[in-house]
Amino acid sequence: MDAPTAAFFSSCVHCGLCAQSCPFFVETGDPKYTPIHKLEPLRRLWEQEFTLWGKLKVRLGFSQPIDDALLEEWEPLLYDSCSMCGRCSLVCPVGNDIQAMVRKTREGMVASGHSPEGLIAASVRAVNTGSPMGLQWKTLDVQIGHVESASGLTVPIDQAGADYLVLLSSMEIINFPEYLEAIAKIFAHAGVSWTLSKDCFEATNAGVQIGSKDIAAVLVRRVVDAAVKLGVKNVISPECGHAYTGIRWEGPNVIGQRYPFKVFHIIEVLDQLRADGRLRTEGMETDRLSMHDPCNLARKSGVIDEQRRLMNLVAEDFVDMKEHGKYQWCCGAGGGVSSNERAEELKMAAFRRKKAQIEEIRPDRLVTMCATCRTQLEEGLEEYTMDIPVVGLTEMIAEHLVEDAPPTAAAPVKEGAPS
Ligand code: SF4
Ligand code: SF4
Repeated sequence: MDAPTAAFFSSCVHCGLCAQSCPFFVETGDPKYTPIHKLEPLRRLWEQEFTLWGKLKVRLGFSQPIDDALLEEWEPLLYDSCSMCGRCSLVCPVGNDIQAMVRKTREGMVASGHSPEGLIAASVRAVNTGSPMGLQWKTLDVQIGHVESASGLTVPIDQAGADYLVLLSSMEIINFPEYLEAIAKIFAHAGVSWTLSKDCFEATNAGVQIGSKDIAAVLVRRVVDAAVKLGVKNVISPECGHAYTGIRWEGPNVIGQRYPFKVFHIIEVLDQLRADGRLRTEGMETDRLSMHDPCNLARKSGVIDEQRRLMNLVAEDFVDMKEHGKYQWCCGAGGGVSSNERAEELKMAAFRRKKAQIEEIRPDRLVTMCATCRTQLEEGLEEYTMDIPVVGLTEMIAEHLVEDAPPTAAAPVKEGAPS
């Protein structure tokens, strides 16, 4: 218990605005899924131990003690019905960061041995094999072979002194190998110096999702060690929202150290290449396209205009959803929900909010920039029999590059800018 937590519970005015922002509550209508209710174990702890009234209630027997039975009852609420999307935090009139409190409560859950099997298994695999899906370098090596023979390009591996270390997500390697090919094509086209690392290719952080600072620190440290070993100036987080916030915003705090490199999401790098005139594209998509903004990228990190400027390069009929960017609705799969089989039904229920947004504008295709969102969008659209393909933005840009154009001369690396 700390001052922000105490301030949180004493300042909540019970207005219910957070409830109207949560896709899990809005789509189920079940009051147990209101954001503030998910924090009940933490609230009760605060009340019982830090308020006079709470202490009195315990003495009089009016307040149930926090025991294993209570934590077991609350575990599904904290892990299955919260994608850590942060929409509730955005609307709270007293500025309470509810999703940060969900994370804090998850930390207590992990410490007391109450977490979903799927997330525990993913965390163990991430620590032991380097990937939450248990994927090893040899699998990526096979994908690299396919990319090289399809593109005629060489994928650089362990290139000391490269400007960029490119990280991937296991889901991307397995479900969307075209992402790596797109990166190889775009960086060859723009003359970007980059590399993969055999020591660390995974960008996601299962420790952040389950709520274990120890596991999170091990996984962040692995990225830092690989980047330092290769002497890179920048690290690129792939098309994955939570990987980006994990490594960029939370990483330095969990290891208690500033990085000797900068971190970018791939979309930020592509937009900078665009601004520098190093993305020469041709042709335009002519069908009606719309976009799903990943919560971690748009709402939590403010990366909103970058993807739209890139869309303008290649799409002539782009239409935004009514609530987009900072106020977009979550797809329902983040925060470890997609790794938690028990949450499957709720995940699809939460997706109905996104479905309603899509139905309002009826696009021919959707574009996004997160492998987890993309998988959830594909599964959700199939579940609700909506025939709308989903595309990754990086791949779409790669498809429009002017072929056989000589690479733009690489400018000297400026600190914090694509080089
Ligand atoms: S972070 Fe998102 S999913 Fe979690 S309680 Fe808040 S609005 Fe609901
Ligand atoms: S929006 Fe903020 S003040 Fe209102 S109920 Fe939720 S946490 Fe409390």
